[in-house]
Amino acid sequence: MNEPDDELLDDDQRLIAAAIREVCAGFPDDYWARCDREHEFPWDFYARMAEGGWVGIALPEEYGGGGRCITDAAVVLHEVAASGAAMNGCSALHLTVFGLNPVVKFGNDRLKETFLPRAAAGDLHVAFGVTEPDAGTDTGRIATRAEPDGNGGWRIFGRKIWTSKALESEVVLLLARTGDAGSGLRGLSLFLADLDPDYVDIRAIPKVGRNAVASCEVAYDGLPVEGWRLVGTENEGFRHILHGLNPERVLLASEACGIGEVALDRATTYAKERVVFDRPIGANQAISHPLAQARIQLKAAWMMALHAGRRYDAGLECGEAANSAKYLAAEASFFAADRAMQTLGGMGYASEYHVERYWREARLQRIAPVTQEMTLNYVAQNVMGLPRSY
Ligand SMILES: Cc1cc2nc3c(=O)[nH]c(=O)nc-3n(C[C@H](O)[C@H](O)[C@H](O)COP(=O)(O)OP(=O)(O)OC[C@H]3O[C@@H](n4cnc5c(N)ncnc54)[C@H](O)[C@@H]3O)c2cc1C
Repeated sequence: MNEPDDELLDDDQRLIAAAIREVCAGFPDDYWARCDREHEFPWDFYARMAEGGWVGIALPEEYGGGGRCITDAAVVLHEVAASGAAMNGCSALHLTVFGLNPVVKFGNDRLKETFLPRAAAGDLHVAFGVTEPDAGTDTGRIATRAEPDGNGGWRIFGRKIWTSKALESEVVLLLARTGDAGSGLRGLSLFLADLDPDYVDIRAIPKVGRNAVASCEVAYDGLPVEGWRLVGTENEGFRHILHGLNPERVLLASEACGIGEVALDRATTYAKERVVFDRPIGANQAISHPLAQARIQLKAAWMMALHAGRRYDAGLECGEAANSAKYLAAEASFFAADRAMQTLGGMGYASEYHVERYWREARLQRIAPVTQEMTLNYVAQNVMGLPRSY
């Protein structure tokens, strides 16, 4: 395990980090390798995190949550990732840690009272259904539609792709079209809908990594949704989701940093111990310099993530910082994991050393939940005022 590198945290956050390290110590690399290999959701780990109150850390206290800020939640997920749990651990948690933010901010009292206490207790699993096969990043083209049922509710028809944790979740925060076909981003509504197997078909998508948590194709065939399950205002669903994008970027950046750090830690140990040509391979600058570079990049990314989180928590504009953190962390994470693989040579490619698992999971950070290109588009257009390309 890395020397704890806590000087960037405040006193409370140091305690949080230490507590998470203690929980994670009970779930070593072999546990995560098995969950990944067997495509098995990490139920034991989830239960321990829920018992400790960590799953509900960012939910309001009045609903049984910890009432802590996003930066504290980022510290939790950073430690989980850095323990070697990587995305298999973080993805099991983060939709409950933060996914219900639109319900907290915009939901009616009944929604909050029904679902938030159960989420805070770790008893409600939530999925997030935005991405569609024919819309991709262009959310304005979402075609899944919510049709009024004549009794104040809706029926949902359509197809989503990549809905993570759909197999384990009872409910999904679902973005569906309530406006006419040409209504773009302004005709979308957000629902907290049941994943009722009578109306929903869920299939896991075979993928490169993070296999303890499946991401799924989900087909909706007339799923009934009662009126009170609308989150916020009809046709304002995209705006409600936008509200949560910056904190989500902060959390993902923190997770990415954690993966890079654990990969770097394994590589550093190996570089000190592995002897080739009668000297440790770490004596070769071709090995040590990229590892030093990885550390510098990871630290800069983690500082940016904390900076973005603190700005968000203080109610300040944080779009540039959050997008920058997400971009920097994804690059730093993959660079570190890739250099770790190179440092271990053939053993980097062997499952036994776990670096290949980190490498597969670090690669995901450049793609989801937002691609690197879209974070660059944000900075180019919204911060630098460059013309929009699409
Ligand atoms: C493991 C995994 C888990 C996921 N979990 C979820 C989930 O739980 N819920 C959910 O809703 N979604 C989820 N996603 C979906 C994820 O958010 C999308 O894959 C991601 O946003 C990219 O969308 P896309 O795959 O449709 O790519 P596309 O939109 O098809 O884009 C393909 C490529 O083109 C680039 N591109 C497109 N337009 C532009 C442009 N204007 N400028 C520059 N480049 C551009 C993109 O950056 C990307 O590199 C998950 C994805 C993965 C892989």
